[in-house]
Order: sequence, then structure tokens, then C-alpha cells
Amino acid sequence: MQLDPDRTALVVVDMQNGFCHPDGSLYAPGSEAVVEPIADLLERSREAGVRVVFTRDVHPPEQFDGNRHYDEFDRWGEHVLEGSWEAEVVDELVVESDDHVVEKHTYDAFYNTELEGWLDARGLDQLVFTGTLANVCVLHTAGSAGLRDFRPIVVEDCVGAIEPDHHEYAVEHADWLFAEAVTADELAFG
Ligand code: ZN
Repeated sequence: MQLDPDRTALVVVDMQNGFCHPDGSLYAPGSEAVVEPIADLLERSREAGVRVVFTRDVHPPEQFDGNRHYDEFDRWGEHVLEGSWEAEVVDELVVESDDHVVEKHTYDAFYNTELEGWLDARGLDQLVFTGTLANVCVLHTAGSAGLRDFRPIVVEDCVGAIEPDHHEYAVEHADWLFAEAVTADELAFG
């Protein structure tokens, strides 16, 4: 798959200590396992001039107080609290000054954030998705991108999951419904 660097953004979803570091409250080995593959793809993308977007899941402690139904703390326990070490991107994936960092508060990085406007303003409509969790924030963000008329591409060997069948399901579902699934090796920029 050949992608035009001028229209492409590499999106790194939620590769934070809380999910990818063994001391994180929602650590999954499957999330840690994709740190290195993402680092490699990041390097290739930067060399080609592809813009990079990092999303960070961040929750103020009181975020879900008073919600009727949506309560991530009820489902997962408290995680990636605003200002915490957990909420930081893992050290191995270096955020550079030219990168865009999106603080998201739900599974969908487009919901109540400036991401869509940031991409539109730069003419970036080809979105290469990496990160974790495959069946949660990657799936919901890539799906949201598809509904917003972006072209979502899911890099199957650069998305992490708690269970292998979660990964398989998410990649197949995305590929079937709104996105294209590729491996990192299949991607070329230029
Ligand atoms: Zn969350």
C-alpha cells in the first residue's frame, strides 16, 4: 500500500504507561509488545515526512460523576488520571515538538476533541492507526474516522490487545466494515 506523505497521518493511540508499562493499572503484555513495532513505523514515517498524532487517554477524577451511563471507571477501575505518570506516553515512543497530541476522554479520539479540525486544516485524510487497545480505543477511533470520511488503515502488527481473540476480532471487524487492515511491511510512503 503506497501512501502520499502529504495526505497521511500516523496515529498512535493510547500508548501510555497505564496500558503498556508493567506497573500500569491496565497493563496488558499485548500492549507492551507493540511498542517496538510502533517505534520502527514511527521512524519510517518521520523519515518520509508523515505527520504524527499521539492520542492520550486522560480522565479527570470526577469525569464520570453524574453520568447516566458512560462510566469507564465502573468498567475498568480508575485509570490514566489527569496529571499522573500513567497518563504519559511510554518513554520508548518519543513525542516530538512537531507532533500533535490529542487528549481524549472517551474511547473515541474524535469525540469532543479538536482532532478532526486539526487533520482537515492540514489536508490529512489517510489515517494509519496503531496503538492499543485494538478492540477498544483503536477500533472506536478508527471507526469514528471512517464515519467522518477519512480513510482509516489499521496496522495489524502495531495494535495491542488483552487477548489474542480481541485482536483478531477487532482487525477483522475494522477491515470488513470501514477500514483496511495491513501489516507494517505492506506500508510504503512516497
Ligand atoms: Zn479511559
